[in-house]
Amino acid sequence: MTINLKENQNISSLNQKSNNNFPLIQQYGIDVLNMPIVCDDVDLPINKKYLIVEKMLEAHKLALANIEAGNITNRGFGANVCDENNNWALGANFNNTRNDISSICAERSAIVSLYNKALYQYSLNRTGEFKFKIKYICMVQSIDLNETKESIIPCEDCLSWFNTNRYFDNETLIFSFEKKDNILCLKASKLLSLLPYKNHLCDNKNLNLSKIEYTKKALCAMEYFNISQYDIENLIKSAYENYGKKNFSNISTQNVSASILVDNDIYSASKIDWTKRWFLEPLELACANAIEQKGEGIRIKAISCFGDETTKTGYKDGVVSIKSLGRIRQKYANCDTLLILNLKNNIIVTTIGEYLPQKFIQGYKIV
Ligand SMILES: [Zn+2]
Repeated sequence: MTINLKENQNISSLNQKSNNNFPLIQQYGIDVLNMPIVCDDVDLPINKKYLIVEKMLEAHKLALANIEAGNITNRGFGANVCDENNNWALGANFNNTRNDISSICAERSAIVSLYNKALYQYSLNRTGEFKFKIKYICMVQSIDLNETKESIIPCEDCLSWFNTNRYFDNETLIFSFEKKDNILCLKASKLLSLLPYKNHLCDNKNLNLSKIEYTKKALCAMEYFNISQYDIENLIKSAYENYGKKNFSNISTQNVSASILVDNDIYSASKIDWTKRWFLEPLELACANAIEQKGEGIRIKAISCFGDETTKTGYKDGVVSIKSLGRIRQKYANCDTLLILNLKNNIIVTTIGEYLPQKFIQGYKIV
């Protein structure tokens, strides 16, 4: 949806204000007042719109600098994030090597920077409660803004962070640029529109097969993969049974099991803890089992996860690993792969494509 700006603004005073307070908007020559906003139910007053665009341009400068400084991926991303107390911090993608352990995306880099900034302020007179919630995440890439096409979607590692509930909530807004009809637009998305199942907590107590709901895309995928309701029930039963008998997660106290359907065979695996924070993801383990046995060409038709939504700390860590879904969607699974969730009142059968936003493609070559 594209919304028009409110008419009752004093345009000349805003233009004047933009020249004084928003030097980068002036430098880039962006007509913020007339820039369309692409959004889903986001109310963005005009003064906030100016602020957001200015902050995005700050991040753009950082992304460009990251390339010039010789970041090894030759990809520059920038993020500018804001907390509920209106503190801002910038971040760029930080890569020691190209692997995920020694890399961090611009969004997470900015969030960590902002957290430290807020914590430092708190350390100066430690009174009251330390509050930290991310309100805005502005994302840009290092390309010329005129070359912008589609908006940036956070990667699955970042989405795994955003899917937690301590520092992010459903109202957290994500901003990026995109082009529509060759016009540069500001895209605004609520976190919940990127992660529509964020609030759907899985239930590890009961398995109620009498109420199974299918999304339209799931029904299409079932037809495409030639999967019956019986196959769906069998898959979730496997995950449930595996959950009951193999608990290798007694350190983190978050037992999770995953089952996958490949051809007509089911592979199941449990989460294995090394320590509280280091563990093997059950979904990737189940896939590894199938790949080892069947070889490189496997195609995962359906996935079912069953387990504990939280550890004893009470913060939701999630049963479905967005990180793992992101990895297997690159190979062996795709957006049509079915995903079966055991919720409190029913079982929902959906697809990876409905659970996660599509990966953005522009300029993104995996090598
Ligand atoms: Zn990321």
